[in-house]
Amino acid sequence: MTALDQLTSQQAIDLENKYGAHNYHPLPVVLSRGEGVYVWDVEGQRYYDFLSAYSAVNQGHCHPTIVNAMIKQVQTLTLTSRAFYNDMLGQFEAYVTNYFGYDKVLPMNTGAEAVETALKICRKWAYEVKGIEEQQAEIIVCENNFHGRTTTIISFSNDPVARKNFGPYTKGFLKIEYDNLQVLEDTFEKHPNVAGFLVEPIQGEAGVYVPSEGYLAKAKALCDKYNVLFMADEVQTGIGRTGKLLAVDHENVKPDILILGKALSGGAYPVSAVLAENAIMNVIQPGNHGSTFGGNPVAAAVAIAALEVVKDEKLADNAEKLGQLFRKELNVYIQKSNIIKLVRGKGLLNAIVINDEEDSDTAWNICLALRDNGLLAKPTHGNIIRFAPPLVMTEEQLLDCVSIIITTVKTFEK
Ligand code: PLP
Repeated sequence: MTALDQLTSQQAIDLENKYGAHNYHPLPVVLSRGEGVYVWDVEGQRYYDFLSAYSAVNQGHCHPTIVNAMIKQVQTLTLTSRAFYNDMLGQFEAYVTNYFGYDKVLPMNTGAEAVETALKICRKWAYEVKGIEEQQAEIIVCENNFHGRTTTIISFSNDPVARKNFGPYTKGFLKIEYDNLQVLEDTFEKHPNVAGFLVEPIQGEAGVYVPSEGYLAKAKALCDKYNVLFMADEVQTGIGRTGKLLAVDHENVKPDILILGKALSGGAYPVSAVLAENAIMNVIQPGNHGSTFGGNPVAAAVAIAALEVVKDEKLADNAEKLGQLFRKELNVYIQKSNIIKLVRGKGLLNAIVINDEEDSDTAWNICLALRDNGLLAKPTHGNIIRFAPPLVMTEEQLLDCVSIIITTVKTFEK
């Protein structure tokens, strides 16, 4: 068998099981093609993608504008490293900083790398600008956060599966309850060495927890009061997903440090970025941080195209409109459902909570049945299923998906 052989689904699954580390538990479906809101398995069966690669494919699969930008750049220059300048990086930097309204950007590849970058910038700012004593800086994070899987990031996770047996853990983090302003202020009061507050505007992986209205704006005001950097991890919520360009835009908050990933490339290429004003970003000097691939010409070309698509096709507005419709339609069904407790979310980042034990397999079984009915979604935690289709979806397609979801869930009603 060569790498180019056409495999059956079972053969592909068997290969992954035998030769790949078992660090994921995928839904059994093997995809070989994608276009817009659809993906196809190797047997040619078509599905609605209701996960969008964890919100990376906001612009839809294989968007022609993004693909063409990528092809053009791949045929011209792929990688120089940052040992030399290239003619694409500066253009991307100018474009992305203007797009989000910041002085400077630091490009990386994955979301976790961007979070690490933000933490490093925050610590350096703490010592060199805020004047915290060396080694004493602390960063506040939230319970049930998800910011990636590096050693430092899992150090402040409270997911036992992500943490256990990966210690010793990185010090310097204080974990507080999400969506609780009182405890945030108390922590600022008690800990004068706090330099930053790292927060997801909506906790995606935890199960699409939307904080109370005003939480982000008030948390930002508290950060300002205590001279603490407000760092928004918009890796999952950003770039149109929640019905605004950024989820913090719902509360007119401008983070001191903005962390982006995933849809920054429309899922075509790993591109992440950290944005900040000069007063913060200028703490970074040559040699402090970097990555061979970060800011490479392909990433730069792809990201510019991906961001253009979001604006040109008004994807945030579409997410807002379809999200409202999605929740409205599901809420009508939920009134008479015993199996779905509730639907929650913003824009096209939504989740349903299944009325069963946290550790039951009902959510997983519903996802298997959804797959059989032509829609792909995955439980986040336990009994919660996240629904996050590409933002290029039409109203007609969304209603078709609602009907698939309701028909499927009906067969699970007790
Ligand atoms: N931050 C958030 C909020 C995320 O949802 C994720 C991934 O799901 C990450 C960071 C990590 O991104 P990556 O998987 O690209 O490292």
